[in-house]
Amino acid sequence: MTFPPANLPNVPRRGLMLVLSSPSGAGKSTISRALLERDADIALSVSATTRPPRPGEVDGKDYHFVSVETFQQMVAAGQFLEHARVFDNYYGTPRQPVEDTLAAGRDVLFDIDWQGTQQLGQNARADLVTVFILPPSLAELERRLHTRAQDSAEVVAKRMSKAGDEMSHWFEYDYILLNADIDRSIARVQAVLDAERLKRDRQVGMARFVNGLRGQ
Ligand code: 5GP
Repeated sequence: MTFPPANLPNVPRRGLMLVLSSPSGAGKSTISRALLERDADIALSVSATTRPPRPGEVDGKDYHFVSVETFQQMVAAGQFLEHARVFDNYYGTPRQPVEDTLAAGRDVLFDIDWQGTQQLGQNARADLVTVFILPPSLAELERRLHTRAQDSAEVVAKRMSKAGDEMSHWFEYDYILLNADIDRSIARVQAVLDAERLKRDRQVGMARFVNGLRGQ
């Protein structure tokens, strides 16, 4: 199902920025993918990273995989909306695609960490909706990281040791979601997105629409 159904009048709305953060392995990528598949009105912000691609990851779709040198040039040229070092690599959100998507009245989904979320909050708080996803337990987080089987044991251990740091920032987010059941979590994030879209301040075309309804 796509949103909105084609038979609804198209009332212009201000796009929003939906951030999903979590320790890695908490289910954030699965939730993002599902949301993007079922909702035509939101587009993923594809980050740039200096980390090497994992098996199956596609350049330009999952990430823009760049060298440290290119990343630093992009920082210097002001091409990032936010950027941070996460684990041993650099990650950043390219500015232009986000601005283009918002200007077209669509929403943008960000899969970024707490540092990036703080930076976006400093510049665009009114447009920002942030969701923090927690795993049901640390044991379950570790199990998910192992079954993902894309990272070495060393990388998994490092991610586990960083999980506590990441989770300590949960209280900086607007919504907190405990991901025990993936389908339920997807439905809940969709519910947050739908509700946030209905906020009056985002309905920039509503006054004109209502005036039309009233025959003025
Ligand atoms: P991974 O290497 O597992 O894809 O991502 C590691 C962490 O970096 C995740 O928590 C992810 O949300 C975060 N991340 C990915 N892209 C960005 C970005 O552009 N900016 C920031 N600040 N964090 C990012």
